Amino acid sequence: MERPDIIRLELGEPDFDTPQHVKEAAIQAINEGFTHYTSTEGLLELREAVARKLERENRIEADPETEVLITDGGLGAIYAAIQSLVNPGDEVLIFDPAWPRYFENVLLVGGVPKNILLEEEDGFVPDVDEIKKHVTKKTKLIILNSPNNPTGVVEPKNVIEEIGDLAVERDLILILDEVYERIVYESKHFSLATHSDLKDRIITVFSLSKTYAMTGWRIGYAVSQANIIEAMGKVSGYANACRTSFAQKAAIAALDGPQDCVDIMVREYRKRRNFMVERLKEMKVFSVTKPTGAFYLYPKLLLDQESPGFTKQLIEKAKVAVMPGTAFSMKGEKYVRISYANSMENISEAMDRVQRMVRQIMGH
Ligand code: PMP
Repeated sequence: MERPDIIRLELGEPDFDTPQHVKEAAIQAINEGFTHYTSTEGLLELREAVARKLERENRIEADPETEVLITDGGLGAIYAAIQSLVNPGDEVLIFDPAWPRYFENVLLVGGVPKNILLEEEDGFVPDVDEIKKHVTKKTKLIILNSPNNPTGVVEPKNVIEEIGDLAVERDLILILDEVYERIVYESKHFSLATHSDLKDRIITVFSLSKTYAMTGWRIGYAVSQANIIEAMGKVSGYANACRTSFAQKAAIAALDGPQDCVDIMVREYRKRRNFMVERLKEMKVFSVTKPTGAFYLYPKLLLDQESPGFTKQLIEKAKVAVMPGTAFSMKGEKYVRISYANSMENISEAMDRVQRMVRQIMGH
């Protein structure tokens, strides 16, 4: 049901339009009749553009012929990786809070997701000794997402490297979900696969969805060693013969073209983040830190209420939608995820509405 009266801050979706030069590349491809099947792994021309980008931006070396797979968004890569690697009964370590699709995808293959709870006091940064306690003979994979949905945290390079060392020590595979790689503010994004000796046990997942505001185009990619990429290619090929032909042409334009469109979006996200953090702090009912990546805040609710009830009330009374922390965490009752991928005008109006409701709850 469409509800235009509700300001939607619950979505994980850029509000910006896809850059014009990217749209034009797709239009040109359609007009030239580029509207048929492509190879299952993705157009070689696109995989080559991906390999150039990986080298330029992530310092990852990859052979476009064998080590890169074009997928249906980042999710398509995560799905294919889990389908290829996880057998029934295998355990997968997932940091909590997390994007819920990891759990669902592990359950889908009969795997066993194991949560490792991260604490706000630790800045939602994992502790390697704590991870070790969760590793058993059945552990197959660790999934790490940085910059993070829902917390916005960019994990420190040394922690990511320690997780890499642990993977070697205990013979584990890592899925590194880096779909928010370009949406960083004070922090720098780090790709562990830059260490070529680790490449064999890492699947790094990227997407054009967030970086270029292309969620509906469904183009992402994975980089890993050739055997894993081959297995993942089979999974995505059985599910969906290939990715959309002209969307792949648009992706080439996005990766090879001017990048100032990304800088403009990131600058705008940063302004909105700063504004929203200040407004929430003023309300005195949220404990809020300023995360340095992605486009979410994950404040703690200081009211005597739990987040599912609070968010329901927020929709009904204030007409503002946010996500309850329970959607992302076993311990999410006191947290909400608020997206600032919305216009400044809408964010400002939403903050006024939330403030009015909070004042009512507090009785002044
Ligand atoms: N990973 C994370 C952490 C996400 O938040 C999302 C989208 N919400 C994705 C992957 C997948 O996005 P897409 O499939 O559009 O690339």
